[in-house]
Amino acid sequence: MNIHEYQAKELLRSYGVPVPNGNVAYSDSQAQAVAEQIGGDKWVVKAQIHAGGRGKAGGVKVADSVEDVRRITDEMIGTTLVTHQTGPQGRVVRRVLVEEASDIRKEFYFGFVIDRASQRITIVASSEGGVEIEEVARQSPDKIVKETIDPAIGLLDFQCRKVAAAIGLREKSCMSQAVRIMKRIYRCFRDNDALQAEINPLGLVGKDHHLMCLDAKFNFDTNALYRRPDINELRDLDEEDPKEVEASGHGLNYIALDGNIGCIVNGAGLAMATMDAISLHGGRPANFLDVGGGASPEKVTNACRIVMEDPNVKALLVNIFAGINRCDWIATGLIQAYQTLNIELPMVVRLAGTNVEEGRKILTESGLPFVQADHLDDAAAKAVTTVNRENA
Ligand code: GDP
Ligand code: MN
Repeated sequence: MNIHEYQAKELLRSYGVPVPNGNVAYSDSQAQAVAEQIGGDKWVVKAQIHAGGRGKAGGVKVADSVEDVRRITDEMIGTTLVTHQTGPQGRVVRRVLVEEASDIRKEFYFGFVIDRASQRITIVASSEGGVEIEEVARQSPDKIVKETIDPAIGLLDFQCRKVAAAIGLREKSCMSQAVRIMKRIYRCFRDNDALQAEINPLGLVGKDHHLMCLDAKFNFDTNALYRRPDINELRDLDEEDPKEVEASGHGLNYIALDGNIGCIVNGAGLAMATMDAISLHGGRPANFLDVGGGASPEKVTNACRIVMEDPNVKALLVNIFAGINRCDWIATGLIQAYQTLNIELPMVVRLAGTNVEEGRKILTESGLPFVQADHLDDAAAKAVTTVNRENA
């Protein structure tokens, strides 16, 4: 789960990490009030969306007066910002962060990620921070340094010093600041079950060269949110796919893709296998809806509705390998969906496992136009043939 930059900065501030003085605003007048409250004579107005690349896309602007803050905010709020991370559809800006402008002398990149290979929290840092970091990673990967943290010992001072020296923070005062900041961000990361923390830029600011986190992005482990209520509260549903939000409200997992076969399955493994089988037959899934275990007929009906809300869906493929699930409940749910949702799309159904005979019988006796399949490959082949016929 992602949070907004201003929320990440508040979180960092609570761990004693230096961030610019600032606050969120939902309107131009609020933005002006924030600027007046901060004081000074230069501010930055930053679009708050769950995507980076704002700098290059006009989502970060410097203002010289409070009137300017107001005007920039008015222009930003309500517009759709398209950055290289949002996809072509962009993101609507609903709030901005207004903060004191920083006199940046140098920009570094600093972050923590969980490295999958070592299964450990790892520092990723670079002397070449700022908006071109992706280019740096592509063209000069040697400018990116990494340091793995042993979970039993935690982040040690010498590791921080090593990273600081490697990115050019050798000067004594810089190094001690860097060590302090790195350890505090690490504590924040670990205490909140984060998966990723990215400070880009970590800025060397002002004549006195103090370090400050000028941008912050955090991503948290969704599976740990149950024990992190404070983080869970920062969730912004406007930033999430509305169908995924709706699905999670019904205890369903929905993943949007870009093909035309809507898939209702149980379990992530079967979802992958179903996707592979569809691809093997030359088709493409439009989405995946995982009904999980023990799905009631109501849950199955909701699943059908959510999957069909995607206008790209031209056929449904229901692939259930029932263990805890019951094929008769699935079948009952599918019939309920037909009766209540006015389904006109072809539906291929493959049932296996618990109560399969009963489930198939219910489908057959319903007289509804289900296309039943015997196994996964058969189901995928039938779904692809059906879609191709629809498209022809
Ligand atoms: P991103 O493009 O979405 O990652 O947004 P950032 O917050 O990283 O801002 C992009 C760039 O804007 C930074 O790399 C800085 O060069 C510049 N920037 C951000 N804040 C300030 C500031 O307070 N003062 C100045 N002069 N530049 C800033
Ligand atoms: Mn940034």
